[in-house]
Amino acid sequence: MTFKDLRIIEPILRALEQEGYTAPTPIQEQAVPILLGGKDLLGVAQTGTGKTAAFAVPILQHIYKSQNAQGNSRKIKALVVTPTRELAIQIGESFTAYGKYTGIRNTVIFGGVKQGKQTQALRNGVDVLIATPGRLLDLMNQGYISLKDIEFAVLDEADHMLDMGFIHDIRKIIAKLPSKRQSLFFSATMPKDIVALSRKILGDFERVTVRPEQATAEKVEQVVYFVSKGNKVNLLVHLLEEQAGSSVLVFSRTKHGANKIVKKLGQAGISSSAIHGNKSQTARQKALGDFKDGNIKVLIATDIAARGIDVDDLSLVVNFDLPNVPETYVHRIGRTGRAHASGIAISFCDKDERPYLRDIEKLIKQEVPRILEHPFLEEVQEENKSQRNQGSQKRKNPNQSRNRNQSRNSNYRRKNSRNQRNNNRNKSRGRD
Ligand code: AMP
Repeated sequence: MTFKDLRIIEPILRALEQEGYTAPTPIQEQAVPILLGGKDLLGVAQTGTGKTAAFAVPILQHIYKSQNAQGNSRKIKALVVTPTRELAIQIGESFTAYGKYTGIRNTVIFGGVKQGKQTQALRNGVDVLIATPGRLLDLMNQGYISLKDIEFAVLDEADHMLDMGFIHDIRKIIAKLPSKRQSLFFSATMPKDIVALSRKILGDFERVTVRPEQATAEKVEQVVYFVSKGNKVNLLVHLLEEQAGSSVLVFSRTKHGANKIVKKLGQAGISSSAIHGNKSQTARQKALGDFKDGNIKVLIATDIAARGIDVDDLSLVVNFDLPNVPETYVHRIGRTGRAHASGIAISFCDKDERPYLRDIEKLIKQEVPRILEHPFLEEVQEENKSQRNQGSQKRKNPNQSRNRNQSRNSNYRRKNSRNQRNNNRNKSRGRD
């Protein structure tokens, strides 16, 4: 299947080619015909599947065609609402890239910065508006934005918008949309409240599902290290030294935790930056830019701040903390293994996080292979001891799971144990 087979018009085809996209991803293959056909869409897919192009390309194509028919009038015809500034900026960049030969203009609005530049862009006229909910409502209330000409409405990452408490804002925005429109609704997960919200927005819709378990199991090599809380930083330093030179994204559950990791890595001579909600927008953009350009090799992020991170050659994601919401794990490891690439996701799991690991494995329907050779292993031994003491055989011995998973992750394992052997050799040399 090619983009041409999907009946994409020439100016957009040319732009996609320049982006280096040779073939549509599964979500693009499925969603583009539905959207070009004018139907509403429910997309169950996470970021990293190519979903931005899946909705941006058909929207650009519709606007381009109707512009040619009606002459060019700059009214906001498409609205994309997305939870974070990073994601909004990312989507804006995608519209700009795919639409560079169409003359279609987009602008991005989000909170946390002064509104002057954004209102100026709106005054100049835009066709596509990408916005976070709060700032959108704010500028609507001030009279800078009218949604009356919207023909295409996209709600992106709906599950995260609800997690972030945007439900009332979203309801208010939906209420202002014209009833005749094409609606698109994307969410990585579909709990009850999301299904209810999708019903409010979508008319006669078709559903496309790119299951997270496909995305994770097929593309991302995953491993877990059992390590105590206190030793996590040491293990991270150890792994970063092994991986020197690669771009590594480290997830921390909390902002405070992210800052602490940066500090501790600094003490070990590894420079890194943190992005999270307490940092100014400028600081976040700068850290992200440095990371994308390869000036910083290690970026520590909280889940919310990482939503829009899209780095082409990100080869390693480290879950410093395991998330308590299993879907978040899927989102996180989706940062590596983007589109057609493959990647590695490493998780640290301390005693308190074992239940989270079980939930994750239930969701992804696979056991994450354990790495049992590393210098900070105390806790696994404790686990085995306590299992023996309790006579509990309920949870599988990680040694057994390792054997079962040996072939799946043999490359990673070989490399890891080779490094480990070298390390031990170096250590014993040091002692001599
Ligand atoms: P998204 O899920 O929209 O965030 O896209 C994830 C990544 O895949 C981005 O880096 C896109 O540039 C890239 N991408 C999207 N579609 C394609 C494609 N058809 N071929 C190659 N890369 C793509």
